[in-house]
Amino acid sequence: MSFGVLDGDGQVAQIEGHPFGQISFTGARYAQADVRLLSPILPSKVVCVGKNYAAHIAEMNTGDAPPEPLLFLKPSTSVIGPGDAIRIPPGSTNVHHEVELAVVIGARGARNVTPEQVPASIFGYTIGNDVTERDMQKGDGQWTRAKGFDSFCPIGPWIETDLGGVGLDPADLAVSCTVDGEPRQQGRTSQLIFDVPTLISYISRVMTLLPGDVVLTGTPSGVGPIRPGQRVECTVEGLGTLANSVAAADAVSTAGGAR
Ligand code: ZN
Repeated sequence: MSFGVLDGDGQVAQIEGHPFGQISFTGARYAQADVRLLSPILPSKVVCVGKNYAAHIAEMNTGDAPPEPLLFLKPSTSVIGPGDAIRIPPGSTNVHHEVELAVVIGARGARNVTPEQVPASIFGYTIGNDVTERDMQKGDGQWTRAKGFDSFCPIGPWIETDLGGVGLDPADLAVSCTVDGEPRQQGRTSQLIFDVPTLISYISRVMTLLPGDVVLTGTPSGVGPIRPGQRVECTVEGLGTLANSVAAADAVSTAGGAR
């Protein structure tokens, strides 16, 4: 298991250690078809933003847009990679997909940065699916359980470190989600109520963002239920497609296992 650089020719070049700062290549190269992509990063925390698209706020029918970014956390243990299964908790019938532009923090981290300083704190962009148990979200009054189950944070399929190099602007990317090929969500990051520099700056005044931390920027309208056997595909322009199957929770316990 290692980090690698995915080039445009479908080749993966293995790198030594972590991808931050100066990287060095091991010299090993593989066809992309021969490697299994995991979550492109294992963040110390995933910081999420609620109610950041007006159309999603309207469909949720839970009041107005917040005057400041609404923050919550997903645990690192909720992260899975492309192709992994989203696991539906026992008894749940109202688990929803939420496609989101994901920002990956770079080598210097981010603490008390201004919006103007934010670009230097960003390593790149990827896709996140902020999977949410809607009944628990409503019933609990806060969102830790509803958004914190193992497998509730698919990330990937890779991190794009040079969106500008392919002529794209993170402030105006198409964001969409399909379930079994049927269109569900559609939006553009230009519709974000709080844009990426504002969000990262705001979060950095609350908590230090470490290298590799992931910020999910909110979801456009069209969220809806997923159930075992379905396939969810989240796409952000220029970042590929993050595809995950949906399965029932497995009952594997750590009790009685190896220590
Ligand atoms: Zn979300």
